[in-house]
Amino acid sequence: MIKEMGKLKTVKNYPKFMLELALNILKDNRLCDNCLGRQFALVGFGLTNKERGHILKNALILELYNKIPDDTEAVSINQNIAKMGNVLAVQSLQRKECEINLNSANDSACELCEGLFDQLTNYVKPVVSKLKDEDYQSFIVGAKIPPEILEKEDNIRAKYNITTGESIKSEFTREIGKLIMNQTNKEPDFELPDITIIIDLSNQNITLQKRSLFIYGRYRKFIRTIPQTKWPCYDCNGKGCIRCNYTGKRYTESVEELIAGPILKIAGGIGSRFHGAGREDIDALMLGNGRPFVIEIKEPEKRNIDLKKIEKRVNKKTKRKVQISNLSFANKKKVQEIKSQAKKTRKTYRATITLDKDIPDELFLKLQNELKETKLKQQTPKRVLHRRSDLVRVKTVYSVSIKKLAEREIEAEIIGEGGLYIKELISGDDGRTKPSFSSILDCQAKCVKLDVVYLHTDEN
Ligand SMILES: [Zn+2]
Ligand SMILES: [Zn+2]
Repeated sequence: MIKEMGKLKTVKNYPKFMLELALNILKDNRLCDNCLGRQFALVGFGLTNKERGHILKNALILELYNKIPDDTEAVSINQNIAKMGNVLAVQSLQRKECEINLNSANDSACELCEGLFDQLTNYVKPVVSKLKDEDYQSFIVGAKIPPEILEKEDNIRAKYNITTGESIKSEFTREIGKLIMNQTNKEPDFELPDITIIIDLSNQNITLQKRSLFIYGRYRKFIRTIPQTKWPCYDCNGKGCIRCNYTGKRYTESVEELIAGPILKIAGGIGSRFHGAGREDIDALMLGNGRPFVIEIKEPEKRNIDLKKIEKRVNKKTKRKVQISNLSFANKKKVQEIKSQAKKTRKTYRATITLDKDIPDELFLKLQNELKETKLKQQTPKRVLHRRSDLVRVKTVYSVSIKKLAEREIEAEIIGEGGLYIKELISGDDGRTKPSFSSILDCQAKCVKLDVVYLHTDEN
């Protein structure tokens, strides 16, 4: 049910003589039931503004009955109410044999809303027909009210010192919302509506804003040549040039595109955004249980989609490059959640490392011991300085275990804190990471192959 906002509140500045205030308003203004009732929206409960306005008008007609036809002011107020179609007012004038001045048609429109509340169904019809092809469960109505109407309402409120009214916008959107709900059987949702319907009263335009669809999942990456997200071409900044073969991209494929493509085909929508829980280097594999991600589909045509089918479709299409799993529907909050989680998540890496001289086995033992449960200082690596600020981060290495592959070639399994730069932990990055494989082994160590083999998240 649509909440009758604020109606259950007790009002402090309750008008002492509500009828007197209503009478004063109607003396100089011709208002419809809605617009009169709305000025008392916060008084009492259980009535629509229209009902409130109607009751107040009828009460006034009864009150004025003994004053007409002699009191000219009473007659004119009665006339004003009769012009707006109040049956009791018309009968009252008839009985007292007063002239009923129902002359021109432009005399019978509400001076405040200009007949808006008589035409609600005219607005609802096109909205409902627009909604017919949409896949949604919930909606909310928004409106752009012409400034001259807002100004008129402000003036009335100021003139009569009205403290119990609600805004024309909230009444309009609520009443429209009720009618839409009755015709579509969909629920209004004030927090996270699937669709926001915006009605612009000045030009009768109706726009539908569709909430993005968020899908959570985990991905694994099996090739060393694709980045996680789309990279714009350096030369043209994404516009397209000879260098990038007019694709605007530095790499022809990315994890993002491989996943988003099939999803967009199924869900529709105007575009997508990929949010990863951290990222691995282009040349690193992402193995094990996979890395969490959230993909956001903008303005989806379908929400009720089969995630199992999507998983199959993506995995079939991307073959041995990328595989996804654990898909579930998510919301915007999940994006922040996986990003902040990524900073804390331990990861297990496997690195193949070359050394520029022969190293005695004892030194590998020393390396394993020295890096066990160690906090190290890592200044932003030179290779990412162009996109990250230059500062020193303290990161933890939990364990390192070394396997010798050949003379001057080893394999290391490293468990480290999220955000630890592994290539620099190995090379030392000219002293920017301390200590490092190079500093402990007293040689130049270089990571030639790197894979993320496991993410230790809470889920596992
Ligand atoms: Zn009105
Ligand atoms: Zn280019």
